[in-house]
Amino acid sequence: MFTIGCHLSFSKGFMAMAKEILSLGGSGFQFFTGNPRGYASKEWSAKDIAAYNEFAAANGIGTAIAHAPYVYNLCAAREDIRQISFDAMKSDLQKLEAVDNVVYNFHPGSHVGQGSETGVALIADALNRMEAGRFKTPVLLETMAGKGSEVGARFEELAAILEKVEDNANLGVCLDTCHVFDGGYDIVGDLDGVLEAFDRIVGLSRLKAVHLNDSKNPLGSHKDRHEKLGEGYIGAQAFAAIINHPALRELPFCLETPNELPGYAEEIALLRKWRTEV
Ligand code: FE
Ligand code: FE
Ligand code: ZN
Repeated sequence: MFTIGCHLSFSKGFMAMAKEILSLGGSGFQFFTGNPRGYASKEWSAKDIAAYNEFAAANGIGTAIAHAPYVYNLCAAREDIRQISFDAMKSDLQKLEAVDNVVYNFHPGSHVGQGSETGVALIADALNRMEAGRFKTPVLLETMAGKGSEVGARFEELAAILEKVEDNANLGVCLDTCHVFDGGYDIVGDLDGVLEAFDRIVGLSRLKAVHLNDSKNPLGSHKDRHEKLGEGYIGAQAFAAIINHPALRELPFCLETPNELPGYAEEIALLRKWRTEV
């Protein structure tokens, strides 16, 4: 199955997103669990979720990605920010228990000068206390660009977090193409080599989703500026290789490119054209 889609606004709920992604030619989608720049968490409609679960299964919608708001930071220097992030994330995971076929993706965090090791330890400690592995929904660490003091731009950091979580069977990674390229992994010149490194350090079985974004900046820039597919330094050919790669092709793919809905529909159509059947 080719699960391909884009980031959508949650504003009208799950059923609305499901219908919207079908109208764009997609078969999966991503949404923010709350205001991307806030911690406030609204209640979700149980009726909407029940209708969605049925509709998604009946209409070939694949794994959806719930994305945590950007402001969550489990390794902030301030205790109060760590706590509010912890509470918000736990609440997201509790709400997601009712949703079928969904994964939860979050940015590991920014250590804000405390150092990568402290960042890794704080993130792992929070995931342990939250019992993040106990939820039905897989919890995914997103690969980061390494902007500022972001943790998770190196595969070693992601592996270290996962290793420190006791109940980690249901934890995984979401690979963001712009972020890894920006982080210095050459998915254009050596996709196989990058995936081999990921397998050696983290384990390919941990990889549960892929964000498809081109990059406005060259390899290793650490800037995190997404570009439309084929218009950045990653380029169309690399995306064709990524969506067809044997280690990746069954994962849910999601666009986070700078587009309005018609632009997303065009990119989804392009990706369908580039997809080869096996
Ligand atoms: Fe993200
Ligand atoms: Fe992303
Ligand atoms: Zn990004």
